[in-house]
Amino acid sequence: MAGQTAGLISQKELSDLIEEAAEAAGYEEGFGVEGCDLTKASWWAAYVRQSLEEQAQNNRIPEYLLTCARMAKDQGMVVPREYILVDHESSEYLDRKHMTYLRKEVIAKRRIAGVIFTHQGRLSADPLHQLYFERECAYYGVKFLFGDAPGGTDWASTAGRQLMAQANWLRVKTNRESARAGNIGRVLKGMVPASRAAYGYRYCRDAEITTDGRIHIKKAWWEVNELDPDGTPVPGSPAWVVVQIFTWVGAEERTLYWVANRLNEMAVPAPEGGKWSPARVANVVHRHCYTGNHAYNANARVPNPDRPLGDITAEVKRTLLRPKPRDEWVTFEVPALVSGELWGKADALIAERGRGKGKQGKSIKALLRNRIFCPRCGKPMVVRRDGRQQRVYYHCSKYFRPWADNPCSYNKFVPGTWDDLVWDCVYALLKNDVWLEQQLASEQSQDENMAKLLKLHRYKISQAQSKIARVREGFEGGIYSLDEAKQRIAECEAAIAKAEQEAKRLQTEMNRSDAGAADIEAVKRQLKALRERNLEDASFEDKLDMITKLGIRVYPSEDLKTMRVTCGLNLQFENDGEDESAVECRKVMFGSPNRTKGKTFEKTFALVY
Ligand SMILES: [Zn+2]
Repeated sequence: MAGQTAGLISQKELSDLIEEAAEAAGYEEGFGVEGCDLTKASWWAAYVRQSLEEQAQNNRIPEYLLTCARMAKDQGMVVPREYILVDHESSEYLDRKHMTYLRKEVIAKRRIAGVIFTHQGRLSADPLHQLYFERECAYYGVKFLFGDAPGGTDWASTAGRQLMAQANWLRVKTNRESARAGNIGRVLKGMVPASRAAYGYRYCRDAEITTDGRIHIKKAWWEVNELDPDGTPVPGSPAWVVVQIFTWVGAEERTLYWVANRLNEMAVPAPEGGKWSPARVANVVHRHCYTGNHAYNANARVPNPDRPLGDITAEVKRTLLRPKPRDEWVTFEVPALVSGELWGKADALIAERGRGKGKQGKSIKALLRNRIFCPRCGKPMVVRRDGRQQRVYYHCSKYFRPWADNPCSYNKFVPGTWDDLVWDCVYALLKNDVWLEQQLASEQSQDENMAKLLKLHRYKISQAQSKIARVREGFEGGIYSLDEAKQRIAECEAAIAKAEQEAKRLQTEMNRSDAGAADIEAVKRQLKALRERNLEDASFEDKLDMITKLGIRVYPSEDLKTMRVTCGLNLQFENDGEDESAVECRKVMFGSPNRTKGKTFEKTFALVY
């Protein structure tokens, strides 16, 4: 066990521990049994959880497994090896790897009779999640058994478990608070907090074991990682990389992109391993600790409001770092790697360059943002502004990301003037009455054709039905033998089935297009309204609105000599009332089509520069 998986228990190690536990409990025939017929639902599962922090302090997994084996033996339950599950995540949420497997695959599919927990706190430290899990078990008819709490479903047992869950919740909360308070205390005493040092440093401590067996930290500090005997950073070491980054960005005014490439060329691994990216370089530049002053308790992680959440038992991921009020900060000193002046210069430079790129500054006015696609990889192109001449262009989002998984080799730039070219096409079409009428008429005539076909199928059905009646008469009149009659009727029935199927298909299609057909008049009105606004002097926002409403997409050819423009009309209609309802996406031909794919119509334009 090395590298990233350090601390996680491997399946082989787990199997060994299970074997030892079964042996110690004297229950080898019932705990961790291999080769059980898992289609039977009489088995029990055993669930163990130990967070990595807990494990680092005191590994209790062997003891937990022994307790499970003893509980299984006491009750005479058989636990197959496959149903002994160990998780390493927190008790604050239920969406852990094996817990999810237990809930969704084993319990919800009723593949077991019950599940064993050594302690109620191993399941959850959240009273609501505890209840949620119990309800699921009750619903699917799966029993549960806790080593330290009543397992019944009566009121008193349920209430008892709730009380324990509340107590566990309090324990988690106080542990976290006391860890923070402890770190603040350490910082106030002139030490660094007990956490990983920033890239470029190493966490060091001087500790002694007290007479009662506790670890007493006498001193904790960060050391530069790493210095040669003269006191300068060793080339290629993390500290040296930090100094280089600030020199390149702050003094030589290199871009983050250049720095990331340079470091990757030099084969220097990024702080978390892997390749450097501009964002990773920026993370280093933003860290204030390199000037020698650091603060503890300065930031808090908060959930991103734009991120989708799972169900109520899932972890709420705190992915955004937000500063805490200044008076909560406690500051401490670490060896300085760069001067405050250089730090300020580098930080200001990347903030300045970031401006106008959509994040910190004003976003670039680009009509085709998210609407123009790379001819080689098909991904939407990104908008960039040329630093000196302030020209706007589009390029493949993956081309400048050599560190990404699937970089794209398309290196051409689409000039921002394509905005105008596309707008001219849209404008021309909106102005063209003949074109518009044609589009709407072709939709209508398609509907009429379908109605005719439907009529034909219905006629076929009635024909076949009357034929069956005649065959029956003929059989009764002695014209057909029984076999002949049977054969003829079977033929007619097959024809009816086929026609009915076809009619049904047409009907559904017509119903679907009916929803739109009724709105053809509305489409007309809407387009007219769009046109009547003075398109000649349309502002950028007007144009963007129209491009969005028309669902314009642009596909340049690789040589950038032609572009394919598609339009998927996606109009919002005003109702009588206040609420706007989006009508099913109506796709209308855009120019004379030279290729038709489904109901999306496309036009290719040759570009004349
Ligand atoms: Zn591409």
